[in-house]
Amino acid sequence: MNSKEIRVISAVLLLALAIGMIIYRLSVREETPGTESFFGMNTIMTITAYGEFRDEALYSAKLTVSELENMFSVTIPDSDVSKINTADGESVGVDEKLVYITETALEYSALTDGAFDITMYPVSKLWGFDGGENRVPSDEEISEVLKNVGYKKISVDDKAMTISVPRGTGLDYGAIAKGYAEDETVRTLKNLNIESAIINFGGSISMIGSKPSGKPWVIAIKSPEGSGSAGTLALRDCSVVTSGKHERFFTDADGREYCHIMDPNTGRPVESEFDSITVICDSAMMGDALSTAFYVKGWEWALSYRSTHPGIELVGVSGLTVYLTEGIADSFTPAEGFEAVIR
Ligand code: ADP
Ligand code: MG
Repeated sequence: MNSKEIRVISAVLLLALAIGMIIYRLSVREETPGTESFFGMNTIMTITAYGEFRDEALYSAKLTVSELENMFSVTIPDSDVSKINTADGESVGVDEKLVYITETALEYSALTDGAFDITMYPVSKLWGFDGGENRVPSDEEISEVLKNVGYKKISVDDKAMTISVPRGTGLDYGAIAKGYAEDETVRTLKNLNIESAIINFGGSISMIGSKPSGKPWVIAIKSPEGSGSAGTLALRDCSVVTSGKHERFFTDADGREYCHIMDPNTGRPVESEFDSITVICDSAMMGDALSTAFYVKGWEWALSYRSTHPGIELVGVSGLTVYLTEGIADSFTPAEGFEAVIR
């Protein structure tokens, strides 16, 4: 080999090495997740994303969530929702997103016989679920407050972009805003070409694609006590949203439990033999609204809703039994001590 040939071979080897290094670095970047955990909408939010622009995506997603919280919060005094709640019946100009969510919330109220109702705020407050002191109110107090409840009291003008409620009525997007924020997060990540991510907003989970390895994500369904798992679901590209009695509740002197999901018919916390109901579908907002409504209406009602509205699967935990609809049954592995029943 003459020296020219040696130089050419060395150059080719160096080039191959450089290309190899670049590919390696890119693949490491693809396979190393970016994770962001923060407190928002009264819960811990965690986003894990893979892909070249994951850092930018996480930054943007966090910003989106905080903008939405400033709009939806009932505790931030100058949020759009607080303005509506304190306007004494006047119309309030709001962000178009709030108009959209409110119209969607009203659709879910109609679809669920009023079980999902964003005017439950005065009732939640009465029971101390607004951050105040939890207590069991009297029947008179409940019937007084129920006069202000009812989704049909909400007026939305989607041309003028205004919303109003009568004096005494209050809006609370606690059972839908988190889901909407999660759908917005999914859109934000997808716009930055993220093809693999998992988003967990306090028990409401959305997945983009699968794990980078191609394997499904593994989602735990909480056990009735809330600390362990009743089993796991192996899933990709969908949302899994749970409503249950042990997310937030209080216990009276006799040991009776009162949960934070209110029955609009009674003005009282839902009493259910189910510890939780989980909805699996392709939108966290839909899952959020429906899981709350199904918790109010009960498992059998949820099954009949599903039979006329395809595209949703259900998991219900009742003690040591986990009920599953047939479309999700194969993805479920019960934890030790739990029995899976297909319904
Ligand atoms: P989580 O907040 O644990 O995810 P949900 O999505 O079921 O649970 O939302 C429950 C919250 O929604 C309550 O804390 C309250 O703010 C509000 N809420 C309570 N009952 C209802 C109801 N029947 N319809 C709509 N919102 C409700
Ligand atoms: Mg909900």
